[in-house]
Amino acid sequence: MHELIRQLLAELGEDPSREGLLNTPTRVAKALKFLTSGYDANIDDVVNGALFTVDYSEMVIVKDIDFYSMCEHHLLPFFGKCHVAYIPTTKVIGLSKIPRIVDMFSRRLQVQERLTNQIAGTIRDVVNPLGVAVVVEATHLCMSMRGVEKQNSFAVTSAMQGAFRDSARTRMEFLELIKLRSAIPGLREGVTGYACVGDD
Ligand SMILES: [Zn+2]
Repeated sequence: MHELIRQLLAELGEDPSREGLLNTPTRVAKALKFLTSGYDANIDDVVNGALFTVDYSEMVIVKDIDFYSMCEHHLLPFFGKCHVAYIPTTKVIGLSKIPRIVDMFSRRLQVQERLTNQIAGTIRDVVNPLGVAVVVEATHLCMSMRGVEKQNSFAVTSAMQGAFRDSARTRMEFLELIKLRSAIPGLREGVTGYACVGDD
């Protein structure tokens, strides 16, 4: 990767041998490896047995999980907050594992919609809950840095499954508890705002 990044610097019109850039290829390679380390993670290692049998059927919420990801269309960051809820049947997952599941999928090249669905689908598969809800709020640097006109760089995506899809009351309880920055009335599914769609 080192040589590719050297070439990229030259293509951009830089002199890769000047002092400030000498170690840049090494640093960039290291940073990119970290930012895409989610590809090497697997769910069994992440969960690592932290599933517990409980007699509890109220909503479990972990909100304001910070995440950083990279848009697959421009290789530029998008980042923000992720909120996760589920309603257990017989099992709960260790609370600290939920941010790690978010990291596992955000540290890859992503689009916000897929990231949202992958987090929800994984929690569904691991915990087998009555329902799972994931809301992701993010700012996309590929939009704001490039000054894409008439488009907002802030987007909200959601995935609602099971009880959160079937019951408006459950869904509203969740949305009330996370108190969205953008407070979207009747938010159900899909995208609000303008996430990067890679059309330019
Ligand atoms: Zn983009």
